[in-house]
Amino acid sequence: MPTLSTRLIVTAFAAITLLLFGAPARAADYDLVIRNGRVMNPANGLDSVRDIGIREGRIVALSREPLSGAEEVDATGLVVAPGFIDLHAHGQRGFESWLQAQDGVTTQLEMEAGVYPVDAWYEKRAGTAPINYGATAGHIPVRIATMVDLESLGLTEQDLAAGLLNSPHFAAISQQRTWMEDPATAEQSAAIAQRLQRGLDEGALGVGYGINYTAGATREEIYRMFKVAAANGVTNFVHSRFGYELELGGSVDAVQELVANAAATGAGVHIVHIGSSGGSRVPLLLEMIDSAQKNGVDVTTEVYPYTAWSTFIGAALFDGDFTRTLGLGYGDIELPDTGERLDQARFEHLRAEAPQTIIVGHGMQEENVVAAVSHPGVMIASDGMYYQDGRAHPRGAGTFSRVLGYYVREQGVLSLMDALGKMSYLPAKRLENAVPQMKRKGRIEIGADADLVVFDPARISDRATFAEPALPSTGIEHVLVNGIFVVRAGEPQRGNLPGRAVRRGSQ
Ligand SMILES: [Zn+2]
Repeated sequence: MPTLSTRLIVTAFAAITLLLFGAPARAADYDLVIRNGRVMNPANGLDSVRDIGIREGRIVALSREPLSGAEEVDATGLVVAPGFIDLHAHGQRGFESWLQAQDGVTTQLEMEAGVYPVDAWYEKRAGTAPINYGATAGHIPVRIATMVDLESLGLTEQDLAAGLLNSPHFAAISQQRTWMEDPATAEQSAAIAQRLQRGLDEGALGVGYGINYTAGATREEIYRMFKVAAANGVTNFVHSRFGYELELGGSVDAVQELVANAAATGAGVHIVHIGSSGGSRVPLLLEMIDSAQKNGVDVTTEVYPYTAWSTFIGAALFDGDFTRTLGLGYGDIELPDTGERLDQARFEHLRAEAPQTIIVGHGMQEENVVAAVSHPGVMIASDGMYYQDGRAHPRGAGTFSRVLGYYVREQGVLSLMDALGKMSYLPAKRLENAVPQMKRKGRIEIGADADLVVFDPARISDRATFAEPALPSTGIEHVLVNGIFVVRAGEPQRGNLPGRAVRRGSQ
């Protein structure tokens, strides 16, 4: 049988080749090997030198012995950690995604404001993203779709799909106060619930809210939306109703509303940026959140590592006398594109004429930021905004490096392993029940997605400042997304777009 003997000869030849030249045969085992790095895996506490073998976008080997691959990168003296997962990333165009990649972020998720329509948003992102992306169904855009006469503005629902803060129509929409200030009628409330359901049916990762921006939304409305989330087994990601210092209508009230809704509906709640929403009450709120968890309520929180916040000047949180409610002076408000500090006349003029104007509010105490950053279980998330002509709050560029450089290395307020957990494993765990894809992220183990960050713990630092907010972080050597370099030897690899959708119902 000629075929068989040919086969035998080929097999014998291959066997001899293998014996003589073991290396080339082994090289085919891995597309890429990261050699000799200090692998830190917050999921199981592993902190030891390993080689990591990567094939087809997944981690397939973790070895004390040297591995060899088609490509190899030496990570001697560097930390290899799971890529960072940002639960609060508004800015998701190329400009912001690349800044985040250079800050070690491999997955950016728009969980607070959320998006709508969901299908259209995912379609726009497909094939354009250096890092992984995803979003919740957003109560704010759904409220706009339901309560604003879009037709009179020459718009359709599809025009909202770019994300509100990125929308060329945001100026027109922010002149409409109905979606911010009016309570929904029973019919509107039912329509809002239906649209959120459609968003969840289209694969949204949860339900996102900015109640502070939709001050007209009643407690009943929010409670009913929590029931939608509960029925779908997803979590609510919420910017709480108030960030004020008041006893009645303050941040304690606001957090109690959310804990009560979670307890009453069984849906989980993740309270965003506890630093900016909690003000001076941060320590009390952290204690309440811990206590609710111990008593079986599914509630978590996050923080960004800065003492200034950012929003648009037309936002409902400035309604009334905000100098009293927010405990903030006009001079604490800055225009990030010029550095100008406002006075009352300038503030009122901009609020009336250009409500979409982005501002920075210098209004938090360092001790409260430290309390949240160092608190067990509190996640790190950037709240990174869209940059306008290269300018925004620097958190969009520096959040994760700032925690690792400033708070871990310089201030010593938490350990490196705890910090890494707050930016990778904990966010993945927060989502994985509703979004099974997240079980492969935020950890370094066999079968996990090869989303990795390789950095020098002695050098990692944020460089973005309020004066120069788009300076990329430093000390990050390599960032891999699905096994592909998006940062290599400190340089962004702008030809590579390996980011994939994180979406319910996807594999
Ligand atoms: Zn917010």
